[in-house]
Amino acid sequence: MSQLASEMGTPLIFEQGQNGRANRYFARAESAADYLPAEVLRDDLMLPENTELDVVRHYTRLSQRTFGIDLGFYPLGSCTMKYNPRINDAVANLPGLRDLHPFAPDEMAQGALQIMYELERSLASLFGMAAFSLNPAAGAHAELAALLVAKKYFRERGESGRNTVIVPDTAHGTNPASAAMCGFRVISLRSDERGRVGLDELEKVLGPETAVCMMTNPNTLGLFEDHIVEIAKSVHDAGGLMYYDGANANALMGNARPGDMGFDLMHLNTHKTFTIPHGGGGAGHGPLGVAAHLTDYLPIPVVRASKMPNGKPTKFVSDGLTFSLDFDLPKSIGPMRSFWSNFAHAVRALAYMYANGAQGLKRVSELAVLNANYLRVKIAPFLETPYPEICRHEFVASAQKLKKETGVRALDIAKALLDRGYMAPTMYFPLLVPECLMIEPTETESKETLDGFVESLREIVETARRDPKQILDAPTKTVVGRIDETRAARQPDLRWQSH
Ligand SMILES: *Cc1c(COP(=O)(O)O)cnc(C)c1O
Repeated sequence: MSQLASEMGTPLIFEQGQNGRANRYFARAESAADYLPAEVLRDDLMLPENTELDVVRHYTRLSQRTFGIDLGFYPLGSCTMKYNPRINDAVANLPGLRDLHPFAPDEMAQGALQIMYELERSLASLFGMAAFSLNPAAGAHAELAALLVAKKYFRERGESGRNTVIVPDTAHGTNPASAAMCGFRVISLRSDERGRVGLDELEKVLGPETAVCMMTNPNTLGLFEDHIVEIAKSVHDAGGLMYYDGANANALMGNARPGDMGFDLMHLNTHKTFTIPHGGGGAGHGPLGVAAHLTDYLPIPVVRASKMPNGKPTKFVSDGLTFSLDFDLPKSIGPMRSFWSNFAHAVRALAYMYANGAQGLKRVSELAVLNANYLRVKIAPFLETPYPEICRHEFVASAQKLKKETGVRALDIAKALLDRGYMAPTMYFPLLVPECLMIEPTETESKETLDGFVESLREIVETARRDPKQILDAPTKTVVGRIDETRAARQPDLRWQSH
């Protein structure tokens, strides 16, 4: 038995079962050879034979040994782990959408194209951009696409010397990584004492080599960059472009628009802001928005709408428009993703937007901000909050003082929270706050849940003061106890082997 299986106390499905116990509900194929080409058949596959009931129990048990938003509070800062309304999945699963072939000609895919068109138009209006591409498959993927757009834009303007991307030290790691991957030099900008980009520091690094300044607003400390208009002006005066990392868009929907702040490019993580389950590296969706001067560079294809020649609605479209996929953009950076990208996510995102409406989305952001400030104020008496001012949708706390007094670190608090039924907050990020816990409640949690979380945190801190060992040994109630982090990183055991 592999070590993981024995730690989890349950044999893996391959280790269960007995010959002859296979599923009785389906007739056995006469012989696999009737269906499969000989060269793919193997005799030495040790496939288990299990009853359906054993298989169902096995997977149901496994599903309860992990943690997800459906199981409990998931305050993972920057990740916006909000409740995913089931109706979005139901809509994405409608046979007409689910079974549509990506090679279907435009005239047979009018409904799907209309969904993409309406999502694109809705995002453009909500965030103040000229156009969006639904092509990139995640936030980081859209960052890369945006930097490719910037590169091409500068090359065509004869400004290939613009080879530098500026990234504040509060940025997500994907920002500098995307820039480096795209061949840019990265300058990291130190935040000022208010946890924000300082104009003086920025001016020092701006110049004829500046290509893009990538910013998250509110930043990952949950603080709104209140000088954003001046910052954008400085970058534009230096000839650069402004990129908006929209992972924190849950803080400002309907209240402020990146386009109005002066951003030229932006991404959204619809799997964060617009629900859609995420985590575990699952499929994502990262629409890329651009201002008017950059629309020609968007990835292909782009959905176009035109008035029907006779202006009359057909049975495919209700409003006299007809939709088509445009692959003919001479300046496009090309496709970032095959076919229609993660189309089902576009459906989920639009279902979420339409279910809320403009007023509802505004309210979502206001409640997310309210919940974060409620937690921040409740936690401040027993855990430092290094930036004690009104935050947006998330905030950071620090265990630095607790560590000095008791040896209990942010990591240990995170482990102890798992024992108490909560997912840990994001830890040790952003890098500028030592022993950092970054907490994002989202709008979907009740006051009772938030109060329960505060009480658990308080109890952990009190226990750490009285008997630190209890916290240092956590977690003790989860299926897997405290793991050897170094060995897990250096010698990962990711694959079951039969010996
Ligand atoms: C999640 C996140 C990203 C990356 O987005 P993915 O969709 O995971 O690729 C970028 N920036 C910030 C601030 C994020 O929180």
